[in-house]
Amino acid sequence: MSSNPMSNAEVRPVALVTGGSRGIGRAVVTRLAADGYDVAFCYWSRSDAAESCVGEAEAAGARAVATQLDAADADAVRAWVDTTERELGPIDTLVTSAGIVRDSPMMRMSEADWHTVIDVNLSGAFSVCRAVIFPMLKRRAGSIVTISSISGIHGNVGQANYSAAKAGIIGMTKAMAKEVARFGVRANVVAPGFIDTDMTSVLDPELRESALGRIPLGRWGTAEEVADMVSFLCSPRAAYVTAGVFQVDGGMSL
Ligand code: NAP
Repeated sequence: MSSNPMSNAEVRPVALVTGGSRGIGRAVVTRLAADGYDVAFCYWSRSDAAESCVGEAEAAGARAVATQLDAADADAVRAWVDTTERELGPIDTLVTSAGIVRDSPMMRMSEADWHTVIDVNLSGAFSVCRAVIFPMLKRRAGSIVTISSISGIHGNVGQANYSAAKAGIIGMTKAMAKEVARFGVRANVVAPGFIDTDMTSVLDPELRESALGRIPLGRWGTAEEVADMVSFLCSPRAAYVTAGVFQVDGGMSL
């Protein structure tokens, strides 16, 4: 997909975002573009959404490139990272937001639904983090934000696969943060609560209503509110922040 020609005068930092076509990832892409980044993002199937997201990022002055791939395909992810570095330059910031749900009670959960959710959410995050950290270590700079979930902290009924994947993201990110800190690279987790996106729009109304009762701030969050936290964590304002887990959940953990 298209990108703006690079201005000679301007060297913008580069951000890589998985799952950037919709929801939280999309809000992150447009927020980082507004923050001054050039952005490359991947998506799974919604090329219409990806194209309009590229347009929004370009309107904010960014070079923006969308790539269709499966976040669970480690070879495709590595090739994407290499291509992005060639086309846009070294990656300064990575945000992993690609995610799916396949909910069902554990006793009825199929092997396929277990593995697919682990593969996309957890192994996908691992592959892209692994691919970006070596160049970051060499340059002794970089920030990574992984998107987990409050389900990964507290567990959630019907989400054994998703909760395991999101808990895994927290463990992986903390381990990575410890490994890379002495090279000046930071890694943090954002754990959203109930956020209004396509992923949650399919929940049945009764469940949405009962969720509302558990949110002290009395409303669902927006993707932009999650992107605000991500933007802060990526920025030099968070230079002394690493290995943290930041809940954006309207106080649900109270
Ligand atoms: P969403 O609206 O469903 O968007 C999901 C994004 O991930 C889309 O861009 C989608 O691409 C991409 N994606 C899905 N499978 C992919 C794959 N195999 N390879 C590459 N990209 C893939 O979801 P969301 O609500 O924004 O969620 C974003 C992240 O936040 C997820 O990790 C989710 O678990 C987490 N989260 C969400 C909530 C919430 O309440 N919404 C709460 C806690 C955590 P296409 O557009 O091509 O499908």
